[in-house]
Amino acid sequence: MIRALIYLIILGALSLLAASVADTPGAVTLDWLGYRIETSVLALLIVMLGASVALAGLWRLWSAVTGSPRRVRRWQADRRQRLGYKALTQGMVAVAAGDAVEARRLARKAETLLGEPPLTMLLSAQAAQLSGDEKAAGKFFHAMAEQSEPETRYLGLHGMLTQAMHDGDQEQALELAKQASELKPKTEEVAQTLFDLQVKTGDWTDAEDTVKKAVKAKHLDADAAKRRRAVLAFQQSIEAQSEGRFDDALDQAKRAVNLSSAFVPAAVRYADLLNDAGKRRRAVSVIEETWVRQPHPHLAAAMERLAAGGAEDRLHAIEKLAGYNREHEESHVALARAALAAKRWSEAREHLESLARTHATSRVARLMAELEEGEKNDTEASRAWLKRATTAEPDAAWVCDHCGNVVADWEPVCGRCETFDGFFWMPPPRVTHFTPADAPKAGPEIDGAIDSADGDGLPKGGA
Ligand SMILES: [Zn+2]
Repeated sequence: MIRALIYLIILGALSLLAASVADTPGAVTLDWLGYRIETSVLALLIVMLGASVALAGLWRLWSAVTGSPRRVRRWQADRRQRLGYKALTQGMVAVAAGDAVEARRLARKAETLLGEPPLTMLLSAQAAQLSGDEKAAGKFFHAMAEQSEPETRYLGLHGMLTQAMHDGDQEQALELAKQASELKPKTEEVAQTLFDLQVKTGDWTDAEDTVKKAVKAKHLDADAAKRRRAVLAFQQSIEAQSEGRFDDALDQAKRAVNLSSAFVPAAVRYADLLNDAGKRRRAVSVIEETWVRQPHPHLAAAMERLAAGGAEDRLHAIEKLAGYNREHEESHVALARAALAAKRWSEAREHLESLARTHATSRVARLMAELEEGEKNDTEASRAWLKRATTAEPDAAWVCDHCGNVVADWEPVCGRCETFDGFFWMPPPRVTHFTPADAPKAGPEIDGAIDSADGDGLPKGGA
């Protein structure tokens, strides 16, 4: 509309100009290259106008011809990129769907169309992995790890780390996990992998640094971190002792106890080392302090080792220890054991009968059998208790809460499933629960037993 208006105005102005020139008579004479042209001013103006229109047209034609390859190239590049990203997206979908052939085809297409940006490499690596070509996937991961962009480098390192873990190459995996963790210290998964690898390879000091970093990155709360560090200190104490560094062994055991005051294996280790160093009284107080928080049969056993002399002396030591937590089940068991060893039958019976009323586990039945045999030489009663021991509720042991592995002495890493700090003092899962003969006549009791088993967190049956 506006253009038409402008056009009309210009046309009007030109007509006015032409009319005024036509009305004004005048002639132009041009002498050029031996020619002589004589014409009117109007004719000259018309020729000049025509020439400028022709020139403008030519110029437009020329720029259209010279500019088109650039436009065509730009259009082609846009189209390639669009198709590339489409192939990339479809490739990701194929990876998610587990279609290896399609994923590889689309990865190649995206690669041809887009060159090798990070995403294409990741898709290519994933597609190669999906079709089982770990070597090709490794090449892509490696190329990504060499890139300057941190995101791409991380993805490359992560891919290589997963491959090294899969191949069981712990040394390589540890190195890659360190690099990945340095690149992205806030990524919990890598920090956890690094910690696991450090534990597996016995890098206790480095593992403790990783724990401290995990607290800073808020992956781990302060209490969990203390417990982990206590376990690591315990392990460093064992290592120091095996290398003959006795003072270090003692220091690390002390550190473990200070970091986790109810950590029974650390308290036992520290007490034994103190005793070896001639500090028996300090050793006794370490056991007593732990008994207040966490009575445990291994603490009682450690106390018996610390007590000099015979069975009577050991009984006295246990009596003193039990006094710190008099009503606890472990206090009664420890006293019953020590009394049996010292042939103090009535004292032993008192504690065992109290236990038989409240929590008649397998060990209580075994100690009762020992008592009947020792005190009265009653083989029949003893045998009856031993029989009861086989069906009684099992006693607590060090059980891996991850795989159910049971060990006599606490270990920082489960030998079966490699879980770190997985052993807890609890009843082991039972292999068999009830014999068929027991089942029909004691229906209500069985229900009760199942309920109590649930309450204890025991599996209901089976291995
Ligand atoms: Zn385990």
